[in-house]
Amino acid sequence: MTTPIQATLIPGDGIGPEIVDATLAALDALGAPFEWDRQIAGLGGVQVAGDPLPPATLDSIRRTRLALKGPLETPSGGGYRSSNVRLREEFQLYANLRPARTIIPGGRFDNIDLVVVRENLEGLYIGHEHYVKIDNDPHAVAMATGINTRAGGLRLLEYAFEHAVTTGRKKVTIVHKANIMKALTGIFLETGLDLYERKYKGKFELDTVIIDACAMKLVINPWQFDMLVTTNLFGDILSDLVAGLVGGLGMAPGANIGADAAIFEAVHGSAPDIAGKGIANPIALLLAAGMMLDHCKLPEMATKLRTAIDETLNIDKVRTGDLGGTAGTAEFTKALVGRI
Ligand code: NAD
Repeated sequence: MTTPIQATLIPGDGIGPEIVDATLAALDALGAPFEWDRQIAGLGGVQVAGDPLPPATLDSIRRTRLALKGPLETPSGGGYRSSNVRLREEFQLYANLRPARTIIPGGRFDNIDLVVVRENLEGLYIGHEHYVKIDNDPHAVAMATGINTRAGGLRLLEYAFEHAVTTGRKKVTIVHKANIMKALTGIFLETGLDLYERKYKGKFELDTVIIDACAMKLVINPWQFDMLVTTNLFGDILSDLVAGLVGGLGMAPGANIGADAAIFEAVHGSAPDIAGKGIANPIALLLAAGMMLDHCKLPEMATKLRTAIDETLNIDKVRTGDLGGTAGTAEFTKALVGRI
């Protein structure tokens, strides 16, 4: 019998509980050994505990160091900071891994197998922003400060390069804008080139590309890339672009990896427009659960889950509306569990 693994479960807001239920059904069918500690966050946290990240939720993750979470809404007004950004900071989740793989063949972009590794804690995301009042206009000027450190870049680049080696990636591309933001993104590029020369030369091919050219190349010929490593804001944008190549946000999982914990989630948000309708596509969270199984050194279960998703979509042709099908979340989940 596999040893039980304690993990925090945050169903989240909007479609969160629906896709979490689907994911739990699949994990149960696989016999995944997770023992869930169910906690609240986001809008649910505010409604029940007056805090989008209640202390009990943080304590649970401190204890388990492992979480699966549904999307969280940041309540507008009330001065709340994004719960997702707070979680990344609290647990120093410095690496954001966002793989994109074609699961439904025959589309415009076939055979895509790419991974974006995004620095998750620094850059323009740190929220050091302010306005300057001139005359009667309080918002006459807006200013933002980005901070990238050599140490922060180095730990992310080391994680990415190591991941490239262990997962057999042939080519890693550092994405930057060092021609214009010479210091802010130049430090990341310089650190990456130096790390490659010192420790990784010959283990994979290293390439560099400017963010704007990268966006264009991804649309024209995405197959030229294998792994993209980049700073926070560029990674945020590129990972959505890459998700669009493989069928949209409903297919895009993400892992937030840190020294103290790892949190797995779908890239998409709480989709309030379809919440409660039973039509959400649970695949992004299911794929995130697959990444969680890999992280917990249960690769056979992860592969079984991914194979069952492929077969449900391509052999049974059971698909949710966002993929052009007619199945609801429950019908898709039933078919998927039948394949496990
Ligand atoms: P969203 O990702 O929730 O939705 C964008 C569009 O994609 C919507 O039309 C939605 O119906 C559709 N969509 C998303 N996921 C889907 C799925 N699984 N199946 C089918 N269709 C799906 O983005 P948004 O509307 O900009 O954000 C809504 C809320 O989610 C906001 O409060 C935002 O802050 C939050 N959010 C949270 C996270 C997170 O927790 N990681 C990420 C992004 C946004």
